[in-house]
Amino acid sequence: MLIKNAYIENDKNLSDILIKDGVIKKIARSVPQGGEEVLDLGGKLMIPPYVDSHLHLDTTHSVDYALSKGTLWSGIACWNETKKNLTVSDVRERALRAVRAAVSRGVQHIRTHIDVCAPNTTALEAMLDLKRELRDICNIQIIAFPQEGILSFKDCKARIESALRAGADGIGGIPHYEYTREYSVGSMNYVIDLAVSTGALVDVHCDETDDDSSRGLETLAARALEAGIGERVAASHTTAMHSYSDAYMNRLMRVLIRSGINFVANPLINIHLQGRFDGYPKRRGFTRVKELTEAGLNVSFGQDDVKDPWYPMGNGNMTDVIHMGLHIGHMTTYGEILNSYKFATHNGAKTLCLKGYGIAEGNAASFIVMDAENFFDVVCDKREALYSFNKGKIIARTEAAKRTVYF
Ligand SMILES: [Zn+2]
Repeated sequence: MLIKNAYIENDKNLSDILIKDGVIKKIARSVPQGGEEVLDLGGKLMIPPYVDSHLHLDTTHSVDYALSKGTLWSGIACWNETKKNLTVSDVRERALRAVRAAVSRGVQHIRTHIDVCAPNTTALEAMLDLKRELRDICNIQIIAFPQEGILSFKDCKARIESALRAGADGIGGIPHYEYTREYSVGSMNYVIDLAVSTGALVDVHCDETDDDSSRGLETLAARALEAGIGERVAASHTTAMHSYSDAYMNRLMRVLIRSGINFVANPLINIHLQGRFDGYPKRRGFTRVKELTEAGLNVSFGQDDVKDPWYPMGNGNMTDVIHMGLHIGHMTTYGEILNSYKFATHNGAKTLCLKGYGIAEGNAASFIVMDAENFFDVVCDKREALYSFNKGKIIARTEAAKRTVYF
């Protein structure tokens, strides 16, 4: 196939893209037609496929199962009741619904956190099956997520290790939910030691609280640095960082930069969950995306929750996630908005340790076409992904909205 007239990643000039056997063969200002099928985009933006670097597919579409009060703690309590009665078909159906919605909006890579602190392995089994089934449509990475704490939940270590043997890609953690500060530190030591011995990825729900004494991150980063595995370690949420003093941040930044770990911010969920114990003024509870980015650290964005006890809305649309992140992170210059697609594309690919990602000759022909000329307009006008190409095949297509005004 020959795709004509695309603005690749906000380039001001149009390009043609020649695809052969699912691979990008040539990118040039003009590629002559050689008898292949032609798709003329007529001047639309092409970016690499969206990467959702943090999503809970086992809990999705369960918002009506139990009534949450809007805090992280209430969400966990609700899910503790729900997860006792899960069935494989229930988890599968809800997760598939969420993946379809995300794929229809341009997502092709999802890192999902699956709760292993359960009386059964139902959710993990369902997700491992779905991961295999969807591998040519959407790449799903599974993190074994200890929702109730590694040292505070009986047999949690055995459950994580068994999940890795069953096919999970990575190890999670939740230091701010452990019973004590010592357990928090112990859990981070365990996660890094296990990652070193197994080669697994690491993605920790780290300090997702407004409590400025929650400091799981310093142990995670220091141990990742010592082990030399920073690039496959991610710290998700880190919302306590919003409340750290600048003096502590100055000390913390040293080990963060040296470790080279990745960060995942979840703007929709954390603007909803944080500040719930505050009177007025209520803190935003958003990690310091701007400062981390300026320090050269990798930050990607995740949807996190779709219609579950932690967040009643969401549909997997990373443009919405970016839109919220730009607002609460005060990243609203023209350039910041124009380049913000990177939080859910290149930066996400780095967090997930993806290889061969991006629109380049020799890479798989995987990209999305947005209904705009540049990403500034995508964000401002909430434009849709018109096409999603995965290895040269169209896996999702959306008709552009048509608006008519009569004046
Ligand atoms: Zn999460």
